[in-house]
Amino acid sequence: MNLVSNDVRSAVEPGASVAIIGAGLAGAACARGLLAAGVQVTVFDKSRGVGGRLATRRTLVNLPGQAAPVEVGFDHGAPQIVARSPRLRAVAARAEQAGVLLPWAPRVHAPWPGPSHGPGHIAVPGMPGFVRHVLGETPLQLGQAVQRLQRGRDGRWQVIVDGRVAGVYDQVVLAMPPAQAAALLAGHHEDWSDALAGWPMCPVWTLMAVTDEVDWPWDAAEPSTGALTWITRNDRRPGRTRLPGLAVWVAHAHAAWSQGHLDDDPADVAEALAEALTHAWSREERKGVRWHHRAVHRWRYAASGRPAMDARPCWWDAGRGLGVCGDYLAGGDVDGAWRSGDELGDRMAVDLEAAGLLAA
Ligand SMILES: Cc1cc2nc3c(=O)[nH]c(=O)nc-3n(C[C@H](O)[C@H](O)[C@H](O)COP(=O)(O)OP(=O)(O)OC[C@H]3O[C@@H](n4cnc5c(N)ncnc54)[C@H](O)[C@@H]3O)c2cc1C
Repeated sequence: MNLVSNDVRSAVEPGASVAIIGAGLAGAACARGLLAAGVQVTVFDKSRGVGGRLATRRTLVNLPGQAAPVEVGFDHGAPQIVARSPRLRAVAARAEQAGVLLPWAPRVHAPWPGPSHGPGHIAVPGMPGFVRHVLGETPLQLGQAVQRLQRGRDGRWQVIVDGRVAGVYDQVVLAMPPAQAAALLAGHHEDWSDALAGWPMCPVWTLMAVTDEVDWPWDAAEPSTGALTWITRNDRRPGRTRLPGLAVWVAHAHAAWSQGHLDDDPADVAEALAEALTHAWSREERKGVRWHHRAVHRWRYAASGRPAMDARPCWWDAGRGLGVCGDYLAGGDVDGAWRSGDELGDRMAVDLEAAGLLAA
């Protein structure tokens, strides 16, 4: 069934147009490159905001001594942006000058020599701020969960949201975790769809909590035992609000624990992770501390469960006008997400230019 209405056809402007599905850092990096080359780009995301796993949750919390609930922020996805590749370093430096990134060199309590989280940057007012900065003026379609792609008789890609054509594009980029990309690729690129459907991703359960102030000398910790792998005092991060007499925590469970409790009741997970968090405190502190808020978030696709299959940080099929990018193709971290999207944007722009499809 061809779902393209005449209205949609007439709305299509001449010249190469690209839909990027996924407004995480990989999608943003790809959009940035294409936009700079003069391509019409639209970025779709199912969430109401951009950022993907560079995320900050804002929650109204009833706190002692406050007449009304207070908004508390939790950076519950990647804790920081560590730029290793030269182009990301350059973009991060400009974002720092623009006041979007702040340096973060936490005092990390780590049981092994040298914490795995070195100094990096955090974005303000929340972690998505950096992705917003990278996207610049890119047109966004937020709150749009793409259900499937459909190729019209003219060879162009129809992006289907809520059973309707949300737009028609010459090329489509899937900038999302592999299982989600596999579903959209089915019927269009079976090799890629099969490869991505089998790509293991590790889940992470994350605790977000507010307690009484705790005498804890660290900004973050990497426990070596128990359920948790990373604990941060969110309120001690630069640009975050301090709440007098209170402590704001974000704590990630490690992948094996999260996998073992994947379908547990969130209330039970919150209880277990709160208990695990108290083991990072001294015995004295554990006794009288009150909990004012605790909630959990389940990241079903937090991190790649295996190294990239080959050396390509992104996949591009010029014939079909289909591209795939994401952290998992390039090392599984923030820097990898950037490299994957950035390289895909470059490759597409080169092909479009060669085909004479770039705006003069
Ligand atoms: C708990 C946690 C801790 C982490 N710690 C670190 C760390 O310490 N250091 C580090 O470098 N990295 C860390 N990471 C990983 C880092 O966050 C990711 O590598 C990076 O942000 C991935 O970016 P991405 O653009 O590839 O994917 P994502 O950020 O996942 O973006 C994909 C986007 O696609 C959207 N989407 C998916 N399906 C659809 C659809 N059908 N329609 C529309 N939109 C869709 C999603 O909503 C999402 O916004 C951590 C991640 C988590 C979750």
